[in-house]
Amino acid sequence: MPLRIGLIGIGKIARDQHIPALRANKSYELVACASRNAQVEGVANYPDVESLLEGTKGLDAISICTPPQAHFTAALMSLRAGCHVMLEKPPTTTTREIALLADEARKLGRTLFQTWHSRCAASVDAARDWLRTHRVTRGKIAWKEDVHVWHPGQRWIWEPGGFGVFDPGINALSLLTEILPVEVHVERARLEFPENLQSPIAATLLLRTSDGVAIDAEFDFRQKGEQSWDIELETGAGRCKLSRGGANLEIDGKTVGADESLAGEYPRLYRRFAQLVAARESDVDWRPFQLVADSFLIGERRIVAPHEI
Ligand code: NAP
Repeated sequence: MPLRIGLIGIGKIARDQHIPALRANKSYELVACASRNAQVEGVANYPDVESLLEGTKGLDAISICTPPQAHFTAALMSLRAGCHVMLEKPPTTTTREIALLADEARKLGRTLFQTWHSRCAASVDAARDWLRTHRVTRGKIAWKEDVHVWHPGQRWIWEPGGFGVFDPGINALSLLTEILPVEVHVERARLEFPENLQSPIAATLLLRTSDGVAIDAEFDFRQKGEQSWDIELETGAGRCKLSRGGANLEIDGKTVGADESLAGEYPRLYRRFAQLVAARESDVDWRPFQLVADSFLIGERRIVAPHEI
């Protein structure tokens, strides 16, 4: 029997990725959606998660695609209503919230899948496997994109809890923590806040691995022209470059894997969710989120020119 699933927060990522991935996967039946201003054809539509949970009989699972500010309440209500929950990144707005959700899922015997879509990009597994046997000696992350192109009109990203440039930047950190065989922490950070907004438009981090290696990260929302979502790691056997957000991999200048489309990420996420539900397991790894929270805690703060959303 397919999992009867509801989708919360019908915006860009729900329409671009979640709905197509769900409709193409026989393990699911998309039965209901909840969104204040949007409706999806062919399913029951509700204005909010509460009415969806009340109005839908035999619901097995909920997938939450709202901005992070709405994640905690929606996930908690869904778990308490007996549903398994899949959560978009960034997980929640505070580190305590995701810890509480993980506890609640455990207590209730429900699956919580706190996703990192970038970890499902085409070349991530190959990079992780290669790095198991090649020690990193230096690293550099460049995650630079034009916010007007990728997040047009998204006010939530600039509001408290919206993460600003860490909304994409956390994807880089989810990749780094996945592919490195060692742990990493934030040693220094500098965050740039537009004088008219609540969230950073750029950040520079110095990360340090547990074996002492420095990794510099630059996140910037003001990038024009070529966009970059690249992680470069030097090793004794050459450079490992994971680019296009994890889609492409070059080892020592030679292309090892390439898939420009990133089309496999969400189908893979939903396959994993179905496996987790079947096994009655959860998958929650909030290390990338801790790195972001720590950057806010220790980061030097600079006020920069106002930004027009
Ligand atoms: P979006 O286009 O703004 O859509 C999110 C939808 O959630 C909104 O349209 C809104 O629909 C609903 N919503 C519920 N509570 C909200 C609130 N407090 N503030 C604003 N909207 C609220 O955003 P998105 O790009 O789909 O991103 C949503 C989540 O997916 C984010 O956590 C983001 O990091 C993640 N994500 C996005 C992308 C991407 O390429 N866009 C990629 C991967 C992951 P109603 O007004 O109808 O309720």
